[in-house]
Amino acid sequence: MLDVQGLSKRYPGPAGAITVLDGVSLTLPPGGRLAVMGPSGSGKSTLLSILGTLEEPTSGHVHLDGIDPFAASPAARAAFRNRTIGFVFQEHHLLAGCTALDNVLLPSLAVGAPTAAVVDRAGSLLDRVGLHARHHHLPGQLSGGERQRVAVARALVLAPRLVLADEPTGQLDSRGAAAVTELLVELAGEGGGMLIVVTHADAVAARVGSIRRLVDGRLQ
Ligand code: ADP
Ligand code: MG
Repeated sequence: MLDVQGLSKRYPGPAGAITVLDGVSLTLPPGGRLAVMGPSGSGKSTLLSILGTLEEPTSGHVHLDGIDPFAASPAARAAFRNRTIGFVFQEHHLLAGCTALDNVLLPSLAVGAPTAAVVDRAGSLLDRVGLHARHHHLPGQLSGGERQRVAVARALVLAPRLVLADEPTGQLDSRGAAAVTELLVELAGEGGGMLIVVTHADAVAARVGSIRRLVDGRLQ
């Protein structure tokens, strides 16, 4: 499960520090899903960066399956992140020179050459997101919706405990958004994985499940 208590984030600035997160607490059970909404600049991406252990909080605690990633060394935290967390961003961030299959395999490269089992899983994830005939296409040969589906498969390839998606459907029309959301919900939840999606789209948030709004640095 995910247990977040009293998370705050302040950034220094020329006119004094700004408080972006101000005591955010939330818990998610295994298999739990949460949509986070809120105005631009309200700290949604900052929250996901901290939950994803990419950034440290100014204060507060994050425990993922009982582990405090910020108590670990940077190297141990990076290994934990790679093993435990999957990311989907608004811009897919696929490598332009790599095929869809190689892009999906990227997270596995951090732990050495992909095993046959991981290559199998990557291929079957691409099949399940509807790209069975696109394994060897480059990102430039795919539509926006197809690229986002590759990004979903990539986030899931190591079967993470927690999937974090930051406006994953922001570039898609409503049909594409619905398809990508459906895949995220279905694939992230397998084996009790948790899902947090930041979105501006009411339909996406409703499909994810419970919805909380980030306003003035606090989750309502
Ligand atoms: P959202 O994703 O909700 O649009 P962000 O989390 O990206 O919001 O940003 C929230 C606020 O934090 C913004 O005012 C932004 O300028 C500020 N901010 C984000 N990252 C940094 C940083 N590295 N240094 C200083 N301020 C930052
Ligand atoms: Mg953002």
